[in-house]
Amino acid sequence: MLASEQRLIQNSYYTASANAQPHYPRLEEDTVADVCVVGAGLAGLSAAIELADRGYSVQVLEAETIGWGASGRNGGQIIAGLACEQSVIEKALGFDAALKTWDVTLAALDLVRERIKRFDIKCDLVDGFLGVAVGERKGAALREWYEDMSKRYHYDADTEWIEPNTIQKWINSPRFHSGYHDRRSGHLHPLNYTLGLARGAASIGVRICEHSPVRTMSSGEPATLRTDNGSVKARFVVLAGNMYLPEVAPKLAPALARRIMPVGTYIIGSEPIDPAMTTTLIPSNSAVCDSNFVLDYFRISADHRMLFGGRVSYSTMTPANLKEDMQKRMQLVFPQLANTKVEYSWGGFVDITMNRAPDFGRAASNVYYLQGFSGHGVALTGMAGKIAAEAIGGQAERFDLMSRIPHHDFPGGKLLRTPALVLGMLWYRIRDALG
Ligand SMILES: Cc1cc2nc3c(=O)[nH]c(=O)nc-3n(C[C@H](O)[C@H](O)[C@H](O)COP(=O)(O)OP(=O)(O)OC[C@H]3O[C@@H](n4cnc5c(N)ncnc54)[C@H](O)[C@@H]3O)c2cc1C
Repeated sequence: MLASEQRLIQNSYYTASANAQPHYPRLEEDTVADVCVVGAGLAGLSAAIELADRGYSVQVLEAETIGWGASGRNGGQIIAGLACEQSVIEKALGFDAALKTWDVTLAALDLVRERIKRFDIKCDLVDGFLGVAVGERKGAALREWYEDMSKRYHYDADTEWIEPNTIQKWINSPRFHSGYHDRRSGHLHPLNYTLGLARGAASIGVRICEHSPVRTMSSGEPATLRTDNGSVKARFVVLAGNMYLPEVAPKLAPALARRIMPVGTYIIGSEPIDPAMTTTLIPSNSAVCDSNFVLDYFRISADHRMLFGGRVSYSTMTPANLKEDMQKRMQLVFPQLANTKVEYSWGGFVDITMNRAPDFGRAASNVYYLQGFSGHGVALTGMAGKIAAEAIGGQAERFDLMSRIPHHDFPGGKLLRTPALVLGMLWYRIRDALG
């Protein structure tokens, strides 16, 4: 566990409002499975469900508890698209392939809804997402992006553009110039969604163990994965450990670790707000995200709290005055919340890649990995797990498409990567500040 991690998870709204859940045992034996999945976040659980549906015996090993990582702490926004612009994929793979990757991200939104229905998961799903721009210059850039996405990716089928003279009807804030509304995207309680997926996976025969960190893996067919008190022999492995994998098992897949960087992001949860007021703040009750590089993302919870996320840290240290700083950002967006108290603050790390595209592939012929969601993974992890299961089942078309996206190591060794990233990000912060 990263040194600052414990502090980050102490005061999470999601933990405080988590549904009751079964406890899953520690692995205390030597066992076999067709597939061993490392990591019980959204990516690993999705792969496990899809593999069990295809008739494989599946063992999930989680170092901590279900949803302990990013999946149980995030903004809960289920959003179309990847973290990078589609132009990144077009440049790497051409337009036709880029269109297919876009379709994977839309299918991911549908898959979230299917799973919630199938396993009857109580996770407060709400339809709707607002992408908004701060200031006229960002508004023009967002409009240009929206027009292009509508023309070439048919994005307007599920969305509408919001002009400056109507933006206040969508979001009652002085900060935003214009934006768009996406009906197909939305938001949910991510920890309860993750816990519900685990329950669903267990109900179809997936064996889940918590507090069972995989320390080593000997490759080969079968591969052998060892925890502190047991082992699993498996024909296939899915690594879904996010940026925690190199922390828990530094020697397991060092080449993967070099392609992702942990970037801290933080959320506060307000006290419950008068429901009459919350409906005036965001009348459609959509999730909201601005188009800044260091972005603010926020939404209203089912019990009428403002869950407001933003700020980033490129070192793994938690910023000082986190709660107060985030509260100021919230009040900048909604001055109406000047007297609203903050009850929760927490955070986590996103696994960013150099180009912000997800990094899926094979570490060996029978070892698949899913990482690099770059802060855009609540929905996409579902499809990531599904297409990894398709590939293991012999239908590798979609997995191979995604794994053709090229990735590079972060420059510099472990010590140099963070300062280089901080410098690189400084430029974007300055650009955001210019409005
Ligand atoms: C604060 C925050 C806000 C975010 N907001 C959004 C948002 O609004 N919308 C969005 O789309 N995305 C968002 N994201 C990103 C999103 O949460 C992630 O992309 C997604 O949850 C990644 O899921 P995962 O399963 O890959 O990783 P995780 O959920 O991190 O799961 C990985 C799991 O693997 C386990 N593990 C690691 N190594 C081992 C090992 N060796 N043995 C056993 N277990 C191991 C870890 O303990 C962990 O539980 C946010 C992320 C953060 C941190």
